[in-house]
Amino acid sequence: MCVEKTPWEQVTDFHGHSCPGVALGFRVAQIASRELGLRPSPEAQVLVKAETASCALDAFQVLNHATMGKRTLKLQEHGKHVYHFQYSGTEEIIRIAIRSSVIQKMTEPQENLSPRQKQNKSLELLQLILSLSEEDFCTVKRLPGSLSETATSLVWTVCSRCQEPVKSEFTREEGSEILCLECQS
Ligand SMILES: [Zn+2]
Ligand SMILES: [Zn+2]
Repeated sequence: MCVEKTPWEQVTDFHGHSCPGVALGFRVAQIASRELGLRPSPEAQVLVKAETASCALDAFQVLNHATMGKRTLKLQEHGKHVYHFQYSGTEEIIRIAIRSSVIQKMTEPQENLSPRQKQNKSLELLQLILSLSEEDFCTVKRLPGSLSETATSLVWTVCSRCQEPVKSEFTREEGSEILCLECQS
């Protein structure tokens, strides 16, 4: 008999382990799904923008079906546990910011702990993240705006020096040349 995996099992299987980071993503993904509500049209996809790289991103790939490959999951590194969600084709963004008390617990120094203590602490933190009231876990705001790709990110050119194709927004004009990031002086 085939027993269907729970969403938590699906996420930790995909991620490869269970950890506080993926637990954080699991909660954020669930809150986002609830806030996004019903899919506005059959083509609408969930767009996600994360402001820091962490284990949390893998939960969005599994639960929100947002992936780097489809460019529905984007990372814009600002060093913050802030996550933006939106259905494509809509003009409202759900912004989820993790409370500082949670981040503080996640970033407490661990140098003086034994491997066993580290493991226990990580498990405690994971359980805390999954059991905190939503109020104590994050803030949720709705903002106008769009996470869709802008038209400019679809324009390509060829670098004058290396002759490799490059997205125009990543080039710079130097004299009569248009240069990619690698060729810029
Ligand atoms: Zn992890
Ligand atoms: Zn070049």
